[in-house]
Amino acid sequence: KRDGRNTYRFFSPDMQAAVEAHARLDSELRAALENNAFRLHYQPQVDSRGQVTGGEALIRWFDPSGKPVPPSEFIPLAEESGMIIPIGQWVLRRACEQLAHWQSAPKTRTLKLAVNISARQFLHPKFVLETSATIEASGIDPAGLKLELTESAFLRDPEKTVARMDELRRLGVGLSLDDFGTGYSSLSYLKHLPFDQLKIDQSFVRDMLTDHSSMAIVRAIIAMSQSLELEVIAEGVETEAQRNALETLGCRFYQGYLFGHPMDIDQWPGAEPTLPGQV
Ligand code: C2E
Ligand code: MG
Ligand code: MG
Ligand code: MG
Repeated sequence: KRDGRNTYRFFSPDMQAAVEAHARLDSELRAALENNAFRLHYQPQVDSRGQVTGGEALIRWFDPSGKPVPPSEFIPLAEESGMIIPIGQWVLRRACEQLAHWQSAPKTRTLKLAVNISARQFLHPKFVLETSATIEASGIDPAGLKLELTESAFLRDPEKTVARMDELRRLGVGLSLDDFGTGYSSLSYLKHLPFDQLKIDQSFVRDMLTDHSSMAIVRAIIAMSQSLELEVIAEGVETEAQRNALETLGCRFYQGYLFGHPMDIDQWPGAEPTLPGQV
């Protein structure tokens, strides 16, 4: 198009290969959903005493050859193709089942579970209705469920986003702003959005002890969350030194390899071993 009318450009072999890989991945995602080939892993979130307060559900997929495919590769594609809608529904159903399980036992009753919601999923006309139905069907107390959104949702449609967030709050779920600090919007918009929690992006946590500007950003995010009375959690915490620096700055919740990698639910601290024949 850029070269004007009556100009033709053919796909190069590279572009052709990329289109084919794309189409293959798309049909593999469809098949994965049909064959129940997705899994959820759970990564602990802890407070400043080291107590596990809950976790984040993270999708896992092994392609037909058995190779793990990182969500950063297939989630963007699923967003593009629209497959994120049924995949996201599956994630939410599975997460709510797990949360119901936690809420049914005294030791795990107060754990919260965070679930990632992509922008297209969040803006889908039926999202609130379906989320509400999933909550009902699972029988959970919605206060244990936290939806993680990213700024990309606001950039697409700010007014709709705020209205939708209000509807979700009325369902009783919590809302967390994921990857905070990586977006492009101004910070002042935060005041107008009904979030409960900010999640400091892992890139700042990773660099905060070696890079002055990352440290300054982490400090500013924590100070701002305090003045807006938002809970703040740091993701990607890998070392004691990072954890201690975050605590000194006033951050009281942490998630990262220091406390636990994303894991299968059977590996979850204190999980009852599944007995043969038990569902
Ligand atoms: P995210 O929501 O920001 O998740 C945090 C990512 O950081 C996860 O990657 C997690 O495994 C990784 N991580 C956790 N602790 C550490 C650490 O200490 N160091 C480092 N280097 N990394 C750490 P993962 O599981 O590969 O997921 C990547 C992204 O894919 C997620 O980023 C999220 O945006 C998306 N995603 C994952 N599961 C879902 C899902 O069920 N639905 C949707 N829509 N998106 C998902
Ligand atoms: Mg997340
Ligand atoms: Mg994140
Ligand atoms: Mg991230």
